[in-house]
Amino acid sequence: MQISRIDLADKGSPEGLVMAILKAEPSLPIPIPIEELCRQLDIIEIQALTTQGFEGGLLTDRERSRGIVLVKNGVSPQRRRFTIGHELGHFLMPSHVPDEEGRFLCSQRDMAMLNPKEGDRRAKMEVEANRFSSLV
Ligand SMILES: [Zn+2]
Repeated sequence: MQISRIDLADKGSPEGLVMAILKAEPSLPIPIPIEELCRQLDIIEIQALTTQGFEGGLLTDRERSRGIVLVKNGVSPQRRRFTIGHELGHFLMPSHVPDEEGRFLCSQRDMAMLNPKEGDRRAKMEVEANRFSSLV
């Protein structure tokens, strides 16, 4: 893979990001190798999540120079893929700002959200991360 975050620089929506990924990597196999894609896009590690009650998380710095994706242990491969895609989505969308500085934590409920309530900023981020992951 050749893709880097420079290829995605001005993209802020799930659809824009996925279009740019496919443009930069037109011969990506299906299913997309999500862990390799993460590595290309500055996710330096994928670790087991140990916080109870959550499916996934993302650790990053204020500048988003790199990230660590956290995934709950013992989930199915499909679930794991979806969670990694969801957290990569949070990492790549500059408008996504976590409740707690540098750390996103996402529950099963977050990952099932399809429609945000009007004005609910957090729900909007979760829905966008889900849309990104589904598209990938
Ligand atoms: Zn989330």
